[in-house]
Amino acid sequence: MSLSFDPARLSLPEGHFIGGRYLPGPDAIEIRAPSDGRILGAIPQADAGTVNRAVEAARTALARSGWADLAPRDRVRALQAWADLIEAEAEDLARIEAVASSRPIAEAVPGDVAILAEQIRFFAEFADKEGGSLVPTGAGRMGMIASEPYGVVGAITPWNFPLSMAGWKLGPALAAGNAVVLKPSEMTPWSTLRLAELSVRAGLPEGLINIVLGDGPNTGAALVAHPGIAKVSFTGSTRAGAAIMENIARSGIKPMTLELGGKSPQLVFADADLDLAADCILRGITANAGQVCVAGSRLIAEASVAEELAAKIAAKMAGIAPGPTWEATTGYSPIISEAQLSRIDSLVQAARAEGAGVLCGGERLDRPGSFYAPTILTGPGADSPAITEEIFGPVLTVETFGTEDEALALARHPTYGLCSGIYTRDLSRALRMTRAIEAGTVWVNRYGRSRDHILPTGGWKSSGLGKDLGREAYLANRRQKSVLIDL
Ligand code: NAD
Repeated sequence: MSLSFDPARLSLPEGHFIGGRYLPGPDAIEIRAPSDGRILGAIPQADAGTVNRAVEAARTALARSGWADLAPRDRVRALQAWADLIEAEAEDLARIEAVASSRPIAEAVPGDVAILAEQIRFFAEFADKEGGSLVPTGAGRMGMIASEPYGVVGAITPWNFPLSMAGWKLGPALAAGNAVVLKPSEMTPWSTLRLAELSVRAGLPEGLINIVLGDGPNTGAALVAHPGIAKVSFTGSTRAGAAIMENIARSGIKPMTLELGGKSPQLVFADADLDLAADCILRGITANAGQVCVAGSRLIAEASVAEELAAKIAAKMAGIAPGPTWEATTGYSPIISEAQLSRIDSLVQAARAEGAGVLCGGERLDRPGSFYAPTILTGPGADSPAITEEIFGPVLTVETFGTEDEALALARHPTYGLCSGIYTRDLSRALRMTRAIEAGTVWVNRYGRSRDHILPTGGWKSSGLGKDLGREAYLANRRQKSVLIDL
């Protein structure tokens, strides 16, 4: 059976999802399909009153269901039932994901949805395995570190990979005993709504997951500032992360996790398997058309192999298969909006004007929808915005080095520190570089996450604060209370 589908016949959720029900509101934000520009629909914008309603629904759900105090194994079971239903509804979820976002349907099923279900199961399993502890405090006294959920967590997700990002937030927060109010991106909100609806159909308490729709400066800011939100978990740009920090500083300090942007280098040494490196680097910059936080956007290659490697990658780029996200044969994503496509193109043209060479691409693809050609820029200057800024598009820059120290100096970004790739057959060098690189994640002779949800993910420097995934993400959704008792 083909995965292709007709976007005109897709039924999309309507309204916010609060207390287990859809709450319609006046259309405020129009949503277009990046694949061909057609208008798909519109969503309402939650004001402070609607956000308050969602927070109250979450509090009520916690109080009525006793979610935080359930026997932990019952929380595990309830979340696993949700994961089962997600798998059963994988095609419907994936279609909703694909139609408005840049995810080709062939990647959304089985990829994104299967990983989402796995992650929910992964986090659910912590619920009855992590707890507090007794600590030594001397005779006649007892010291304990108790571990408790926060209550209501406020989550905000970006437009790219909406389902995965929702899973990163909802999985650990719910497993840890919290309720959630989540604001998805105003560009790709529908799959998150359906995910919340499925939670109720799977038997999770109504109001445990609430989804408020709207943009960042209005709805997102109201959610972050709400006094009933005990913790904020955000994934998005470094710019919005900074605005959220300021908001929290003004409206009442609370813990936050921030997963932000990056500009991730790919260091290739002359002894590397160049075919393997070329494949990894190709995927690292063309997957989702480079609209990935971990996009490996800077190739930093040893001078003796740089030209050969860049040529290999350019040859592979010629074989990409752009198309609407709803066709099963599509292997290359559209750019999410015309505004983002213009930004990508202006960064490429600026680098060109400064003297950078264009090995391939460098322009929008001549076809319907917002598609940009996979692009390789050679020789942009160190200060060129193509080297320093997160482009969030399919643009790879090429720089060269002679020594390990030069490679490290080039790789060290003044602000970002999300990820890095290292390609070499020399184990000692791989370990030296791994230690020296300033990044939250380092991949050696591979690029990109696998299904190892146990590895925490999160950036260094301005790429983030705290971790998603891993045990760390579960623990970040509980807070500790120290107790000392004279016996
Ligand atoms: P964005 O920052 O524009 O928006 C992200 C979310 O934040 C949206 O829901 C938006 O409405 C909201 N928002 C914006 N301003 C806000 C404010 N002042 N207060 C509260 N909420 C606000 O990012 P985007 O374009 O949706 O996503 C792309 C960015 O996300 C890239 O920078 C990418 O690197 C980053 N990202 C990071 C990770 C990671 O794991 N580090 C993963 C995915 C995406």
